[in-house]
Amino acid sequence: MVIIMIYNSLWLKGINEKILPSLSDNITADVLIIGGGITGISTAFYLRNSNLNVVLVDSNRIGYGVTSKTTGKLTYLQELIYNKIQSNYGFKVAKKYLDSQKYAIELVKSNILNYNIKCNFESNSSYVFTNQDSNVHKLKELKTFLTNSYNDCKITPHLPIKYPCKYAVKVDDTGVFHPIKYLLELKNICKKSGIKMYEKTKIVNLEKKDDGYIAKTLKNTITAKKVVLACHYPFFLTPGLFPFKTYLEKSYVASGIVPKNKMFNAISCNDSTHSIRYYSDNKDYIIYAGLSKTLGNNMDNEQNFKDLTWHVKTNLTEDIKYEWFNYDVMTADGLPLIGYYEKDNTNLLIGTGYNTWGMTNGSLAGKILSDLVQNKKNKYMDIFDPNRKLTIPKAINIVNHNLKTGITYTLSKLKNNYDFYPPNVKVITKNGIKYGIYIDENNNEHIVQNVCPHMKCNLIFNTIDKTWDCPCHGSRFDIDGKVIKGPSVYNISVK
Ligand SMILES: Cc1cc2nc3c(=O)[nH]c(=O)nc-3n(C[C@H](O)[C@H](O)[C@H](O)COP(=O)(O)OP(=O)(O)OC[C@H]3O[C@@H](n4cnc5c(N)ncnc54)[C@H](O)[C@@H]3O)c2cc1C
Repeated sequence: MVIIMIYNSLWLKGINEKILPSLSDNITADVLIIGGGITGISTAFYLRNSNLNVVLVDSNRIGYGVTSKTTGKLTYLQELIYNKIQSNYGFKVAKKYLDSQKYAIELVKSNILNYNIKCNFESNSSYVFTNQDSNVHKLKELKTFLTNSYNDCKITPHLPIKYPCKYAVKVDDTGVFHPIKYLLELKNICKKSGIKMYEKTKIVNLEKKDDGYIAKTLKNTITAKKVVLACHYPFFLTPGLFPFKTYLEKSYVASGIVPKNKMFNAISCNDSTHSIRYYSDNKDYIIYAGLSKTLGNNMDNEQNFKDLTWHVKTNLTEDIKYEWFNYDVMTADGLPLIGYYEKDNTNLLIGTGYNTWGMTNGSLAGKILSDLVQNKKNKYMDIFDPNRKLTIPKAINIVNHNLKTGITYTLSKLKNNYDFYPPNVKVITKNGIKYGIYIDENNNEHIVQNVCPHMKCNLIFNTIDKTWDCPCHGSRFDIDGKVIKGPSVYNISVK
């Protein structure tokens, strides 16, 4: 029997949207949204009746970014996030974050209902669980927080399936959905409302001018009064010095067929994350995410997928059909970054830093950013302010992650080749410049410059996807050096 494994997300299966045109003129807009993931599309959706001239561009296809690689849970039970926010900012802010997440779930549910969106939405229970005695007290703290927030929750010693668990907190009013069917339906509603959208249109430069911005692609310009950065990770360094404020976490996902949907979703608060949900179309699938690590810590994708497969086969299903990996932007204090990118500048906005909870936070960002663009207040905007003050734990966390990225950067400079490289991949240094060489099955050499244009980290070969990946900030390039994922907007081809 031949087993066909797809190193791609389950959510792109059967998606066959007609490609939208690329930008081919210089245009003007009241609002330019850069990026068509859950953040950008939700922002466009909430601006659709605003009478503003809104333009959305995506460097690739709308919906094919990180949003296509999520596990698609719509839940406010997000590991130990409330413990973290409470220890950074106190009960009130943690409670406000909880309210915001419940509000975001209601936003999505009401869109699904009002527009009859067929996106496999299913109400179900969420669990946070542990199989480690040392974590039980943290879950007890979570239970106390939820109870003090007037939130119904239960304690249980096991999950609804046989899976290592000692203690779990459970809530009932959450859900799961098909994120891409939902997003593409919002996109179509936006299009019908007159929002202009361009695919395969990459912004490579953003210039501030008196009353707005000029965004440049390689051929054209978009002059806009306001710009919303919905591109997951900004493609520029200044202003903001974003790479020093956040870090990226990478996780691996596997999905396989199971006999029956179990109508719950769960995430562990163990030292390593285990995330589980089910999905049904004409078959029932389990979707498992794990091996979460700060980007740069585990770049041997082949080994990581082997470890993932072993875990899923041992505990969940033998019949794995899809595998993929994903990164998300993490913040030091557990709160996303949604609002004005810089202090005293209401023309540049951002939504990111969702700490792997972007289905709720990206949807919420859409609402908050659309309110801010229209000079309206939003009751949640204060806790997500990207310019909020540093607290001591937050500062320590930032320093810690910058140190880790610094180490990754230095190691990438010192090391050329890795044990896991096959014989047809190598990095050489010539006249002080590093080159990456990949020899294909027809013996053709593909040479690239082995340095990321974003912040000059050296790149590591990904033997699964045959790409050169940046261990510092996640840019990815094909074997001929074409950038396929930012933040780099430039290629690394050798002319
Ligand atoms: C393993 C894993 C599982 C997860 N599961 C969940 C979950 O169950 N529930 C949950 O709530 N969250 C989950 N998340 C988090 C969630 O997937 C993300 O937070 C969310 O999808 C981010 O959406 P986004 O719109 O910010 O980014 P994206 O979806 O990446 O959208 C950004 C878009 O911007 C475009 N772009 C980038 N640069 C440019 C440029 N220069 N010019 C033009 N366009 C550009 C890209 O092409 C892309 O389409 C998970 C994350 C991980 C890592």
